[in-house]
Formats: sequence, structure tokens, C-alpha cells
Amino acid sequence: MARVGLVSDPVFLQHETGGHPERKERLQAILAVLAEEGLLDRLTLIPPQEVDLNLLAKVHHPEYIRAVRDMAVRGGGMWDADTIIAPQSYRVALMAAGGTVRAVDEVMQGDLDSAFALVRPPGHHAEPHRAMGFCLFNNVAIAAAHAREHFGLERILILDWDVHHGNGTQVVFEDDPGVLFISAHQSPLYPGTGALQEVGMGAGKGYTVNLPMPRGSGDRAYYYLFKQVVEPIALEFVPQLVLVSAGFDGHHADPLAGLQLTSRGYGQMAEMVMDIAARCCNGKVVMVLEGGYNLDVIGYAVASVISRMFGLDIQLKEPVDPPKGEFLAIARERVDAAKNQLGAYWKLLP
Ligand SMILES: [Zn+2]
Repeated sequence: MARVGLVSDPVFLQHETGGHPERKERLQAILAVLAEEGLLDRLTLIPPQEVDLNLLAKVHHPEYIRAVRDMAVRGGGMWDADTIIAPQSYRVALMAAGGTVRAVDEVMQGDLDSAFALVRPPGHHAEPHRAMGFCLFNNVAIAAAHAREHFGLERILILDWDVHHGNGTQVVFEDDPGVLFISAHQSPLYPGTGALQEVGMGAGKGYTVNLPMPRGSGDRAYYYLFKQVVEPIALEFVPQLVLVSAGFDGHHADPLAGLQLTSRGYGQMAEMVMDIAARCCNGKVVMVLEGGYNLDVIGYAVASVISRMFGLDIQLKEPVDPPKGEFLAIARERVDAAKNQLGAYWKLLP
């Protein structure tokens, strides 16, 4: 049985956002299902710690870090129209980034095979100089910076399957050939970036891969996307570590978006990621929670992913009926367009 870690701690409930969609009940709902499905007992708990401030400063500007801290110290408020900073948010965000870093340590040192960082606030919209889209510090980008610095890695894959484009992560690594950033997301949708033509810049050209998918895309479209584009590019890159910005807002029941993915579909994607990692880097995968806002289903989607990290395929007692699973012609067209465009950078595309 694989050894799978879980970063979890009550501190992540202290980023108090009230009735905002990105609320503490998300974590409670996930933990309840992990327990109900018998997965929680199998997981090795990884306690988080605050991220090292020097490491944080490799991704975020010092003035921005101070601005988050100062706003929290003054009692909190709204950073922008949809991003809340509560009194405890600065410290909780340091723990979210630091917990993700600890997950990388455990996996890189070989103490665990893979890990899931069940943290909040999420990170993938956070840019070097600003919070955005419910995100304060970019947990996955900070974890990648740490993996490179601490373990000397030269090739890290960040796969972002949150329904929204991971604009913050893209900005951090867009001129960097050492971090391959692949984002599959619904388009058009917030934040509006992530066009196929955004491929990185300078030495990093080709190492940013954006895969905009139409509203209504479901499990079959995503399976086709992964098999035709994500897997060949990842195998050609040969990552030494795979980080996943694991958002679950592409679920068909999610209130914030319009994909048609099911929990089973998330498990299928996780299985493909685990297979890529098994072939490239001895299975080293760290998943990091991003979005996912339907409290009735998010736990099942996460459980489906974690079961695949164990190499299991459990029948979940999911309460919501799956959609019919039509494979939209426009989804296939988008995938084929991506293959054509990206063939200039990646030889292995079929
Ligand atoms: Zn999202």
C-alpha cells in the first residue's frame, strides 16, 4: 500500500470568511467524507508550519507580504471585491504555504510516496505583488521554489486542473524553463487569462501550456485532453516532481463554474497524474487544494483523488447523480487546436 500524506490542521479553519464561497466548511466537509470512506485512517498526518519568510519572498514582493500582514493586524477587510483578509489570515496563509512545503519535503525525502495538502486560503490566483480570487500566497509556486532550492530539482511540473486559470502561478514561472506549468480550465471564465497562445516568454517559451476548455466539458473531454496533450507533454518533459493545483470547482454541481466533471472523473485524472509520476519520478506527487465550492460534493471528489493516490478505486457513496457525459464536439476541437499549436514546442504530441 502506498504511503500517502495529508497536510491538515484546525489552523486552516481560522481564515474566517463568513458566508463567502471559500469558507472553512469546505475543509470540514472534505474531512467528513475522508473519514466516512475509510481513507482518513490510512493517511499519514503532516503537521503544517509557517513558511520561511525568505522562501516566501522568492515568490512574493516584500511590500505585498507586509501589506497582507498589516491588513490582518489592523483587523482585516476586503483586499478586493472577492478576496477577504481576516484577522488571522496572514498567519493561516503562512501555514498553508508552509504546510505545502512540508508535504514536498516528506515526498522528496522518500518518507511518503505522495501527499495531499488540505490547506486554505488557496493560492493559484495570487500574483507576486497582489492577492486575487480568494488567494493570498501562492502555495504551489512557493512549494516549487522550495523544491528547486532545497532539493536542486531542475524540472518540476505544475499541473493546474482547477476550473479557473492559474494566472498567479503562470506569472511566477512564465520565463522559467525549469517549471512546466500546464493549466486546463474553463474558458471564457474568471480571471480571463489562460489563452492557448499564452505559452511563456524568453527562455520559458513553450513551458507554459494553457488548455482552455468550453463550458459543458465533462469526464470524456478531459480524458481525451489528458491523453492527447497533458500526458505526452509531461512525459517528454520528464519532471522530477509533480505538483497539482487541485481545484474541484469543475465538478458539475459546483456553483461557480460550468464544467461537467464528476468525482469519478477527478479520480481518473488523478490516476493519469500518478501514472505520469510513476514513469518519470518514482511517483512523487503533491496535490494542493485550490477551489471547489459545493459542500455536498467536494469531499467525494477529493476522496476519489486520494483513493487513486493509494492505488485504490473505491465506489464512493456520492449523493449527486452524474450528468450524462456527452463529449462535446467543441471540446474535441479545442483539444485538437491545442495539439496543433503546441506541436511547435513538444515533439511527442500524437
Ligand atoms: Zn477555481
